[in-house]
Amino acid sequence: MRRNGVVVRVPGKVNLQLSVGPLDSDGYHEVTTVFQAISIYDDVTVKFAEPGSGITLDISGSTSHGVPLDETNLAYRAAQLMIDRHDLDSDISIHIKKEIPVAGGMAGGSADAAAVIVAFDALYELGMSRDGMEKIGAELGSDVPFAITGGIAIGRGHGDHLTPVLACGSYNWVLAMAPQGLSTQSVYNECDRLRTGLDIARPQVGDQILQALRAGDAELVGKSLSNDLQSAACSLRPALRLVLDVGIDYGALGAVVSGSGPTVAFLVADEERALDLTVALSASGVVAGVIRATGPTFGARVIETL
Ligand code: ATP
Repeated sequence: MRRNGVVVRVPGKVNLQLSVGPLDSDGYHEVTTVFQAISIYDDVTVKFAEPGSGITLDISGSTSHGVPLDETNLAYRAAQLMIDRHDLDSDISIHIKKEIPVAGGMAGGSADAAAVIVAFDALYELGMSRDGMEKIGAELGSDVPFAITGGIAIGRGHGDHLTPVLACGSYNWVLAMAPQGLSTQSVYNECDRLRTGLDIARPQVGDQILQALRAGDAELVGKSLSNDLQSAACSLRPALRLVLDVGIDYGALGAVVSGSGPTVAFLVADEERALDLTVALSASGVVAGVIRATGPTFGARVIETL
């Protein structure tokens, strides 16, 4: 019997390291990054709809405010791409239950695109390989393949060429949300401005973080967190420096702006420290919200068949 729909759960991510190379002639930056998928999820439901209805999209959830509902939404674009590429019936409804912060450097839009690809594969029984899904995902955005894979991986190129990382242990995160998002493009532009006149090396990931992940050594992972976009994000949002300081003062093992920010990710030793830091950050008045999460977690996967 044909399925009526599927629900796919997809995680957000933090970048444990983000190394950004010089601006290429094509206007892009080569990056090398270590991604970790964390336990903040969007649930994306894709269902067959009435003939002639086309693609319809609606959103609920705690972070749904301001997300576009038209064909610029990455979930919509993923659906259109799958329909075109596989010559599929185009009457589909998509519902996103959104918990991943928007424009927070946690790749929430990319996550929704990844979820739609996985949902279409299941709904139409396309039998795609993970590699095939990642390739089509990369056409939509460089963070989409990782949202399909999950776990911990190194991303090269524009971040979309993935190599899994051998790792053990579970990591406790406290995420400090800013009152307003930052556009990824503006952060890269600011990074280029701050680097004017400097000789920038090709991007690379340090050995120390890979050793730390292999050993499950959270303290060393904390010391190895880094992000070449952090000074640009802090330059555009000076309040982020205060947020980083509060976390370190309250004993975080490490602190980093996630991706292009403005979310700040703090690695802490255990759940108790996570609670302490949550209270301290909430009381500090410098953040708009605080979320606790653990990582690594799985990539986009079907959690319910309708
Ligand atoms: P990244 O770290 O990949 O640069 P981000 O986490 O900073 O991304 P997103 O939450 O992916 O940012 O959203 C960036 C912008 O993309 C939003 O401001 C919104 O206008 C648009 N957008 C399109 N589709 C989505 C979606 N499904 N969810 C959230 N934002 C979306």
